[in-house]
Amino acid sequence: MATRSMLDVLAQWWWLAVDWFSAHAVAPALAALHLGNLLGDPQDIAFALLTGFVQIAIVACVFRPLEAFAPADAWRDGKLTWVDLRFTFVLVVFSPLLAFLVLSPFANLFGGMLDRLGVPADGLLNHIPRIQEHPYLAFGIYYAANDLAYYWMHRAQHAIPWWWALHSMHHSQRQVNCWTNSRVSWLDVVIESCLLATVGLVMGVDVGQFAVLVLLTQLVQDLAHTNTRLGFGRYLDRLIVDPRFHRQHHWLPDPSQPPLPDCNFGQVLSIWDNLFGTARYVRATRASGVGDAMIDADNHHGMLAMQWFCLRRFVGAFTRRAGWKPQFVSFDGKYRPVPVPADVDAS
Ligand SMILES: [Zn+2]
Ligand SMILES: [Zn+2]
Repeated sequence: MATRSMLDVLAQWWWLAVDWFSAHAVAPALAALHLGNLLGDPQDIAFALLTGFVQIAIVACVFRPLEAFAPADAWRDGKLTWVDLRFTFVLVVFSPLLAFLVLSPFANLFGGMLDRLGVPADGLLNHIPRIQEHPYLAFGIYYAANDLAYYWMHRAQHAIPWWWALHSMHHSQRQVNCWTNSRVSWLDVVIESCLLATVGLVMGVDVGQFAVLVLLTQLVQDLAHTNTRLGFGRYLDRLIVDPRFHRQHHWLPDPSQPPLPDCNFGQVLSIWDNLFGTARYVRATRASGVGDAMIDADNHHGMLAMQWFCLRRFVGAFTRRAGWKPQFVSFDGKYRPVPVPADVDAS
């Protein structure tokens, strides 16, 4: 009960801040640029931007110092991490555009399709008896479904070569850090967002109502990438993804050690990895990165060049039959997928 009222108070303050930011910053800026409502409702833009700014502030003030005081890995070249900070700013600034230009049209289009498929227009959740009286339980069910969908999507990103071509950019970072969660292919962001929005549409949940928990989700992912040896302990880490758990997902294959299967795909809940046999809790450390030289070359590029080379890998795989067959691949000099043994691609 106490937790609920605290969340209510936080949410109330949050919406006051969104209102203020919308009226005093976003709306005047849109007016000055003569954009009117072309980019969507100022309130929605203010919501997305503020969420991103709060996220950046917490990562900078809490997670980044953790990397300095209790690092998991020693870094050889700290500059490699800077590009991930730029990725984070770009994702925060452009997230309102993503919501307005991609997700809203997608929701309208897909909403009609769901209707024809027989899914109730108000979503499945609203057909659970008396669920409206328990909004936090409803959110818990939705959240579990969303996280489970993410888990299987993430497994597909590693298994299907054209999807690995996109997702591999996230894995090319040799120094996984508190900003790395945003180091992603922008095309992959669109694909992921549409798939996860589908889960929200089918379930019938308005994520915007749960602003505080949405922000917490983002922060769990940022913490999971933080270069710190701190973990949640041997019981809680069976439930929630901690830095040690996700770091193993980024491990570089080591030819001198026995091959390790792909593991630890969970986004926020590690329950799914434990349930489906992909969880690994190894206390040793290893370097992060990928064994494929074409993907590792991302480390020599800036943000835009990285997107470009990632797209070339994607086209190379998407346009070939081998790019659709679930298998581990690396990429040759012409960005074509080449099948490799499981532990070579470092996925
Ligand atoms: Zn991955
Ligand atoms: Zn990651």
